[in-house]
Amino acid sequence: DPHTYTFPGFGSEKFPNLMLRGAGDLDNWNLKVYEQQHEGYVAMKKALKMEPVAVTEEVKTSGIRGRGGAGFPAGLKWSFMPKDTPERKFTRYLVCNGDEGEPGTFKDRVILEYNPHQLIEGMIIGGWAMQCQTGYVYIRGEFLWLIEKLEAAIEQAREAGYLGKNILGTGWDYDIIVHRGAGAYICGEETALLNSLEGRRGEPRVKPPFPAAKGAFGQPTTINNVETLAAVPPILRMGGAEYAKIGTPKNTGTRIFGVSGHVKRPGIYELPLGTPMNFLVEELAGGSSTGKKIKAIIPGGASAPMFDDKDFDCPLDFDTVKARGSMAGSGGLIVMDEDTCMVQATLRLIKFYAHESCGQCTPCREGCNWLEMILYRIEHGEGKMEDLDLIASLTPRIGLRTLCPLGDAACGPMDSALQKFRHEFEHHITHKTCYSQGPRLLAKV
Ligand code: SF4
Repeated sequence: DPHTYTFPGFGSEKFPNLMLRGAGDLDNWNLKVYEQQHEGYVAMKKALKMEPVAVTEEVKTSGIRGRGGAGFPAGLKWSFMPKDTPERKFTRYLVCNGDEGEPGTFKDRVILEYNPHQLIEGMIIGGWAMQCQTGYVYIRGEFLWLIEKLEAAIEQAREAGYLGKNILGTGWDYDIIVHRGAGAYICGEETALLNSLEGRRGEPRVKPPFPAAKGAFGQPTTINNVETLAAVPPILRMGGAEYAKIGTPKNTGTRIFGVSGHVKRPGIYELPLGTPMNFLVEELAGGSSTGKKIKAIIPGGASAPMFDDKDFDCPLDFDTVKARGSMAGSGGLIVMDEDTCMVQATLRLIKFYAHESCGQCTPCREGCNWLEMILYRIEHGEGKMEDLDLIASLTPRIGLRTLCPLGDAACGPMDSALQKFRHEFEHHITHKTCYSQGPRLLAKV
C-alpha cells in the first residue's frame, strides 16, 4: 500500500505516509520520478477537471487544519477569497509560508528538500481552487541549499505545462515565484511576510484588514504553510472524506512531527493527529538518549508552554494540547532530560524572542528584554526572590497586548517554566548553584 509505511523496529505495523511519501528517494525532486513512482500530479489533473469551488469543498470536507501553528481550517480559509463579479475582477495570490524559523521546528525543510513537487502540486491545486494568478513561495533565506532544488523543480513543472499560460488547456494562467527571506524570524508571521514580500521592512501589520481582503500588494491573498499545501495532493487523490478518517474527528489527517533534544532517534515522524506524545517520544524516538529521566517536553515549537511528566501522555492534536495548557503549534517537540537546567533553557528561549522582536510594540520590545535581563541574573546567581514575582507580573502585561503573537510566544515557555519548575529558579537564587547540574560555575553578572 503506497499510502502507508512500516517503521524499523515495529514489524508490520503500518503508519500513514502521505506527506513524506517518496522523501527517502533522493531523486524524488525530479518530476519524472515523482510522476512515475509516487502518483505525482495525478491529484492536480483531477482538480483541474473539477470546478474550483468543488476543489475548495473537497479540502473543507477533509477537515485539514493549517499546519503552520494556528490550526485554522484550511478549506475555510480558502473560501474567504473573494470571487470575481461582472463589476469587479480580482488579482488573487496564494503565498506559501516556507519561512520555518521556530526553534525546534524542522519539518517544512524536509518537504522542500525531498518532496518539492508535492508542494508545487498542492500550490497549483490551491491556485486553481482560488483562481489565483500567481503563487509565491516565501522561503527562509538560510535554506540556500533547498532554493536551487525547488527552483529546478518549478522549472520542470513549467516545461511539463503545469505552470505558465493556459495550463493543460484550461485557459488558466498561473506561475510560482520563489522569494527568499533575509533571516528575520518575524517574517514567518503572515502579515510581516507580506511586507517582506513587497520589499518593505518585515513588520507585522494591523489586522483587519485580513490578507483575504487585502494581502500581498493590496490584493486578496491566502497564506498557507508548506506542510498544509503539501497535504492537498493526497487529499484530492484519496478524497476529502477518506482523509478525514485519519486522526480524530476534529483533528484530521497526518502531520509531520519533529523530535529534537534528549532522545535516541531525533528526527521527523509522520503520524496521525491524536497520536499520544509518549508513544512518539518513547517508542518511535527511542526515549531518553542519556539514560536520564525526561523532565520536560515542549510539544509544539519553542513558543508552546512546556509540559512536565503529568502531560507526557497527551494526544498530539490541536484541541487536546490546548486543553492541557499548551499548543500543538508547529509540531516540533523539544525533549529535555532531568539534567537540563530550566533556568538556562528558559533564558535561551527568551533571548531568542527578545532578539527577534521587531520592536513595533512596547510590551514585546521592552518586556522581552526585561525578561531576558531578569533571567540572566537569576541564571548567574545574582537573582533575588522578588524577581520571580516581577516575572509573574510582567508576562500578563506582554501577552495578548501586542500586534502579533510573538509577545505571547515569549510568555508561554516563561510562565510554564516558572509554574512547573519554580524550585529550580529558587535554587539558583538561594544556593547560587544549579538545581539540575549542581555547583556549575554561575558567573557573576
Ligand atoms: Fe513586533 Fe513583537 Fe509587536 Fe510582534 S509583538 S509586532 S514582533 S513588537
